[in-house]
Order: sequence, then structure tokens, then C-alpha cells
Amino acid sequence: MSVQVAAPAVELKELSGPMDKAAGPPCEPVTPHPPGHGVAACPLTVTEREAAPAPSCAGERPPLSGCPGLSAAGLPPGAAKVPQASAMKRSDPHHPQHRHRDGGDSGGAAAEALVSPDGTVTEAPRTVKKIQFADQKQEFNKRPTKIGRRSLSRSISQSSTDSYSSAASYTDSSDDETSPRDKQQKNSKGSSDFCVKNIKQAEFGRREIEIAEQEMPALMALRKRAQGEKPLAGAKIVGCTHITAQTAVLMETLGALGAQCRWAACNIYSTLNEVAAALAESGFPVFAWKGESEDDFWWCIDRCVNVEGWQPNMILDDGGDLTHWIYKKYPNMFKKIKGIVEESVTGVHRLYQLSKAGKLCVPAMNVNDSVTKQKFDNLYCCRESILDGLKRTTDMMFGGKQVVVCGYGEVGKGCCAALKAMGSIVYVTEIDPICALQACMDGFRLVKLNEVIRQVDIVITCTGNKNVVTREHLDRMKNSCIICNMGHSNTEIDVASLRTPELTWERVRSQVDHVIWPDGKRIVLLAEGRLLNLSCSTVPTFVLSITATTQALALIELYNAPEGRYKQDVYLLPKKMDEYVASLHLPTFDAHLTELTDEQAKYLGLNKNGPFKPNYYRY
Ligand code: NAD
Repeated sequence: MSVQVAAPAVELKELSGPMDKAAGPPCEPVTPHPPGHGVAACPLTVTEREAAPAPSCAGERPPLSGCPGLSAAGLPPGAAKVPQASAMKRSDPHHPQHRHRDGGDSGGAAAEALVSPDGTVTEAPRTVKKIQFADQKQEFNKRPTKIGRRSLSRSISQSSTDSYSSAASYTDSSDDETSPRDKQQKNSKGSSDFCVKNIKQAEFGRREIEIAEQEMPALMALRKRAQGEKPLAGAKIVGCTHITAQTAVLMETLGALGAQCRWAACNIYSTLNEVAAALAESGFPVFAWKGESEDDFWWCIDRCVNVEGWQPNMILDDGGDLTHWIYKKYPNMFKKIKGIVEESVTGVHRLYQLSKAGKLCVPAMNVNDSVTKQKFDNLYCCRESILDGLKRTTDMMFGGKQVVVCGYGEVGKGCCAALKAMGSIVYVTEIDPICALQACMDGFRLVKLNEVIRQVDIVITCTGNKNVVTREHLDRMKNSCIICNMGHSNTEIDVASLRTPELTWERVRSQVDHVIWPDGKRIVLLAEGRLLNLSCSTVPTFVLSITATTQALALIELYNAPEGRYKQDVYLLPKKMDEYVASLHLPTFDAHLTELTDEQAKYLGLNKNGPFKPNYYRY
């Protein structure tokens, strides 16, 4: 079986010639390789798909109606006019710009690429942590997402212990203890179809949204086309994501493209109250506030979907809770729903579980594993945020420091590059000879952790694995050694082994502990072994822009796809649209893309307008 990828249903005329949107072949569902493994997508094996029983929907889906695709309105080829990125800088480590990513789950989701003798790439069954929808109630009662155990979702989802909205929130100082559920609020147009902390804070929220717009060029470019066609006209999107300024830019873009939206928060702590207020003021039914109770959380989701005279036909989810709620409470809604776009590792796992059990009623798009998004989340973002996280917590100088980075995948490569650029002496540990060779070629010394553990000033884990740094390593570290994790949740460093009576813990700063040995040696443990950057630094809006644009295009794609293009399975965004997400961000840099000549395109066997790489290409 060869690798196939979906041709986009929507036309991207400014980048490509008209596409034959009606006549495209039915798409193959694709299962992504685990984050950072480079192979963009490959189909499920035949056995896997055939093994799945027939979908058990609550009803037959109506035929999908084709919608007008995107057009070039106002956008010259490859050169969307967008506001220039501002040089704004945020100094507050708790600013809402962060926490939008996931470092968590991929370790459990590892899948293997299998190459058969004929060169076909398939994927071995995923050994993911099973999150059973079949046993929904039980599973979701154990649901760790709102109480701090949920694995991190790559973009905005995040365990609540790591995820905070904002110390800069104008609303945090509010001593109004009344639950928003008990308040009667109206926006200036008289609507009360929302529930936020305080509608009067809308003006502050609007400022936050305007700042975010500066760094989200692709969404602003998409809005421009709304002046012409509205590819989401008629779409009724119910969303459940973190409610931040960046999400607000996404929602307002979806609105400009013709969609009606209703929104709840996917995390009880991460809502920026003033942003929620601004959205409510501008007419979006938003049900979210910072510090929701568990009961509030489900109530808000229910208020989004259980509305008289309004039924969603698209879902945008981050973590799978909204999808779960609709499955559990309103399964008939799936008769009208055209597709699910899921953002997080956790939610994607849940969708694959549903798909495997034959219970996925509608097509779903896994935006978590889009190439562009992955690169930004894992490589580029970590390259920037490792320094930020270390600096904010320790005020350290990097030049001349000896650092060992465990794991030379995407995250490790980012960390190493940043530290090397600052003049640190960087060692790498790896288990995979290919990544190990890459580290050597990039000029890093490949070592075993034991060989350098006594001499290094900083230890950084980036493996997605567990117990990479053991108590034995910790015992041998030198005085003042800093230890932190950029990889998988809090499994990589054996922090539990440090909680023994002979060791003293001293909290010296927020997210900084000194662990002191009886002889006086102390090590500096950051964020208790949780993800350093998500706990102690910010995620740039530009990174979130990539995610949000991918989400918007996935919604447009699923909504406009002709019937039969997508089946009841989980898909990756067509590569061409992934390329499109990237191209929409290029004008920010005044970047000039070279176009293939006809002769060159013929020589390479490519369409001049992409896709430019096969699915198995490793970027
Ligand atoms: P990756 O698979 O590309 O890289 C991990 C590397 O670690 C691999 O090359 C693997 O061979 C190596 N490795 C595994 N066990 C090891 C061990 N015991 N010692 C040394 N090396 C070992 O994955 P990635 O994209 O780099 O992601 C790594 C982890 O970081 C994942 O858990 C991911 O979820 C997480 N992540 C974090 C962030 C963040 O913001 N901090 C962002 C994205 C991903």
C-alpha cells in the first residue's frame, strides 16, 4: 500500500491553480508518526482498518454539502498583506501567551514506521495509553484534565498544574466571589447569551486581543478574504479550547469567515477573564472563567451545545472533553456534525480509540501532528523557550557552562542549538544511532550521562522517556547543578526518589527548589521536573498563530469537503494546506519564495503549486 494524502477540498487559488475539488479521490485516513519522528503521515494498515467494526452512529449522516472554497480575494500569490510583527516583549512569566502546548503524551503514543520490501511505509499499531470512550463515564470520572493530571496537549491544552492563564490578568485581583453562574449580565447590545466573570472588563480584553493580532499574521490574512467569499458561511462551530487572546483572534477570524461560534474553556484555570469578556461583548456566546469548578466546567460546555434553535455542525476541541460530552449526552447531534478538529495529543488519542472501536461517527482532523505545527512546537519554540525558562528561574549566564542534553530529537536539537549559540559547552546523550550521529555532525560530544554527570552545570531531559535521570545520577551531580525537563511531563527525572528523609527541600523561588544532601551539596530542581518552558516561560504568539491557522484551515477543509472525501476516521491536514499555513506566515519575514519553472516542475514531477514533498518526507 502506498502512502496517500488527502487533496484539499478547498481551493487555495493564490497559491495554486484551480483544483479539481469535486473529483478528488476518497481520502485515506492517516495516522501520524509520533511527534518529532519526521515522517509526516502514512495510512493505517489495511488490517487495522478492516478490523474496525462498522461505525455505530446514532443516525445516518446527511450528505455533506459542498461549499464554495477559498479564493484569492485580496491576496496576491503567496504574498498576503499582513500587519508586521511587532517587537513587543512580555516580561511577565505568567502572561497568558504561554501554556499552549503539550509536551506530554507522545511517549505513550509512540508508533513505529514499518517499511515493507516494496518500499511501502506503514505504521505499526500505536501502543497508546488507552482512553476508552466505550467506558466513557468511568474514564472521564478519572479525567485528570482539570485537576492537574492530564497529559499536556501540544498546543493549548495543558495539565492545570502547569497551565495558568495570567498573573497579568486584569481580573485576577477582583475580589468578587459571586459565581458567574449566579450573575445576570448583558453586553452592550443587550445579549445575555454568555457567562463570563465580568463583562465590564471587555475593554481590557480587547487590548490583549489587538496585541495578539500583531503576531498572528496568517489569521489576519485569512480575514481579508472574508471580504469576498465566506468559506465558513453556515458553519456552526462549537469550540472548547483555552480562552486566551490568541484563541480570541482565532474565533473572530472564524466569525469573519462566516461561522457562528459558541465556546467553552478546555481548562478550568486558563481562561483570561477579560478576553472572555471582550468576546462576549462582541457577540460571541462564551461560557468560561478562570477558576471554574468541575461542575462549572461541564455546565459551560453544556451551555455551548444545549441551545434552543442552534445545533453545532463542526467541533473544535482541545483535549476531547467537548467531543466526549456530545457523544455522551447528545449523540444525535452527530447527524448534523460534519467533522471534528482536535488539537491535543490526548484528544487525538481518544479519537483514534473511537475510530478503532468503530464509534467515530464523523471525520476528524488531527491538527496536532501537522508538520508545520510540530516543527514550531517542538523545535523552534523549545529553541527559544529553554533559555527563557532557565534565565527566569535562575538568572544564570550560559556562556562557558557545561550542559548535558538528554535526547537529540526535535526538542533536544532546539535546546542544544540555543545553548551552543550562547557559548555553552554542550554534551548530548542518545539511544538512537541516527540522532546520535546527527548530534556528532552538529558538533556536539555524544556521551553517556554517567560520564559527565559529575562535571556538568546543567542537565536537561528531552527524551519523552522515563527515569532518564535517576537518583544515582542526582547523587553524583556537583553542587549547584541545575536539573530540568523539557520532554515528557514529569517522568524523565526521578523526582520521587528525592523525596526521602535525608534530603531537605527548600523552595527558593516559584518553580525553583534546592534539594540539599546531608553533606551540604545542593542541586537546583526546576519546576519539580515538569516541563520547564511551560511552567516557567512563555510560548510566543507566533507559535500559537501556526496552531490557530492550522485549526482554521482544518475546519474550512472539513466543512467544505465534498461528500465521501473524508470518511469516519482520523486524518491529517492535507500536506498542501500545511504548506499553505507556512506560506501565510512568510510575509511577516518579507520572505520571497522561489517559484518552480514549468520545466523544473516537469523535471521534478511536481505540481508548480505543491504539494512539494511526499508524505514520508522528513523535514
Ligand atoms: P523525539 O522522539 O524527536 O526525540 C526524543 C529523543 O530522545 C529520540 O531521539 C530518542 O531516541 C531519545 N531518547 C529516548 N530515550 C532516551 C534515553 N534514555 N536517553 C537518551 N535519549 C533518549 O521527540 P521530541 O519531539 O524531541 O519530543 C521529546 C519530548 O518532548 C516528548 O515527550 C514531547 O512530548 C515533548 N515536547 C515538549 C515540548 C515542550 O514545549 N517542552 C514541546 C514539544 C514536545
